[in-house]
Amino acid sequence: MTATPATREGHGTVTRNGPLPGAFSGPDAASGPDAVSAPDAASGSDGTYDIAVIGAGVVGTAIARELARHRLRIALVDAAPDVGDGTSKANTAILHTGFDATPGTLEARLVREGHRRLTAYAAECGIPVETVGALLVAWDQEQLAALPALAAKAEANGYDAAHLLDADALYAREPHLGPGALGALAVPDESIICPFTTPLAYATQAVRAGVDLHLNAPVSAISSAPGAEQGRHTLHTARGPLHARWLVNAAGLHADTVDRMLGRSTFTVTPRRGQLVVFDKPARAFVRHILLPVPTALGKGVLVAPTVFGNVLLGPTAEDLDDKTATTSTAQGLAALRAQGARILPELLDEEVTAVYAGLRAATEEDDYRIDTWPEQRYVTVGGIRSTGLTASLALAAHVTGLLAEAGLDLGAPRALPAVRMPNLGERFPRPYQDAACIAEDPAYGQIVCHCERVTRGEIRDALDSTVPPAALEGLRRRTRARGGRCQGFHCGPTLRDLLERELAGRSGELKESRPW
Ligand SMILES: Cc1cc2nc3c(=O)[nH]c(=O)nc-3n(C[C@H](O)[C@H](O)[C@H](O)COP(=O)(O)OP(=O)(O)OC[C@H]3O[C@@H](n4cnc5c(N)ncnc54)[C@H](O)[C@@H]3O)c2cc1C
Repeated sequence: MTATPATREGHGTVTRNGPLPGAFSGPDAASGPDAVSAPDAASGSDGTYDIAVIGAGVVGTAIARELARHRLRIALVDAAPDVGDGTSKANTAILHTGFDATPGTLEARLVREGHRRLTAYAAECGIPVETVGALLVAWDQEQLAALPALAAKAEANGYDAAHLLDADALYAREPHLGPGALGALAVPDESIICPFTTPLAYATQAVRAGVDLHLNAPVSAISSAPGAEQGRHTLHTARGPLHARWLVNAAGLHADTVDRMLGRSTFTVTPRRGQLVVFDKPARAFVRHILLPVPTALGKGVLVAPTVFGNVLLGPTAEDLDDKTATTSTAQGLAALRAQGARILPELLDEEVTAVYAGLRAATEEDDYRIDTWPEQRYVTVGGIRSTGLTASLALAAHVTGLLAEAGLDLGAPRALPAVRMPNLGERFPRPYQDAACIAEDPAYGQIVCHCERVTRGEIRDALDSTVPPAALEGLRRRTRARGGRCQGFHCGPTLRDLLERELAGRSGELKESRPW
């Protein structure tokens, strides 16, 4: 598919192959391997975006969405074949209140504001959220003594609903908790959220508002022409060049590498691995809240938390590594988690494990976000978004947009974004297979394809037809839950693969036969 920059009005494009719009102009056009003929004259474009956001994780998609309120030509560029394919797909999916953040930091402010913004946005767009509350459990006298200071810290962070519970009150709330707990700090507004629908909702809304989403486009170098007015950046990607006057670096684990492409080296990212275990749905009966340990100097520690899909998570570990691709689980890490889980919720360990996974936090030298503006370069870097980026995403986006305006980007008047309503993936909210009226209207919602997660043919079709469709089975899982259950796709995998391959072949014009629905 050949891309031209989206006009400032109307729908943007989603591209996964073919040359980027920058191939149409500039010195690279003549010599680059992906050089193509001149752009369609009707586009009236010189192939330059007003702004490019590098990284389509939960942070980059949120920023692109926020910028889309303004009449700008925006490109959202990612190395991966899908949005949310980096750290954003592998976290503990908690919508934090920010009660335990370090008061006065940028992270504390943006997590608090992000919690408020994302709670409202989720209700508007159909992103599943359950306000189950958290209990910070003290297992010894030292931890018990630390709880009042944590309550005071919560107040310093503007959160005054945290309160202490004695052991009886704690066990009344969590009867399956292991023996020996002495008390807890209750944080009633901590919530669980769908980590997959969130970046998808942002990307969907951004594309519908005119953002061009270019996937499979790893940026390997950036060259910048001088001059604030006339100058532009050229992103060199595997799909050819892309030009933009302003840049936002939201490259997560690789934000330091992108920073260096622009001659900056203000921080270094150290990947901090978090391994997690997902228990099957029967385990959900044993836990009502997010069960947190009392934090230590070494980190937030291991938690037990329900998920919006009806499972239970145990994790994460915190291991500083050198390798930014080390998302494998290890026998040692999983054993350590099981040992800690056995103390927190002994019955959990008797339940079946559905999956294990690991995510890498983008830790830096500092215990705060690393957001810097370089007005003379028309560049903002958004680094060090370690363990709270999902929660803070909308506040980060508003903050970065403000920084761009201060640095000189002419935003113009804001406009309303097109409304989006995302398909519900939450177990506690109505799903199509349960809805007789919906099935009567469209029988595809009555045909279950993934029996573990009760995903219907209608939902698969909708995902394949969506504004930002999946490129692979993994992306289909994040949009529907298909293959996310106890059999991990053993039964439904071949059917899903067939449906996806037909769709992909249909898109590339190789398969003419109609879909089976
Ligand atoms: C174990 C764990 C648990 C967590 N739990 C929570 C939680 O409960 N609540 C919470 O709020 N947060 C949590 N987080 C943090 C949260 O997941 C992250 O802060 C967030 O996902 C970061 O999003 P991002 O968009 O910055 O990074 P990413 O999702 O990694 O996105 C960065 C994107 O940049 C792209 N990219 C990188 N380099 C290039 C390049 N050169 N060219 C083009 N594209 C590039 C990548 O492909 C990637 O898609 C957790 C994190 C971990 C690891």
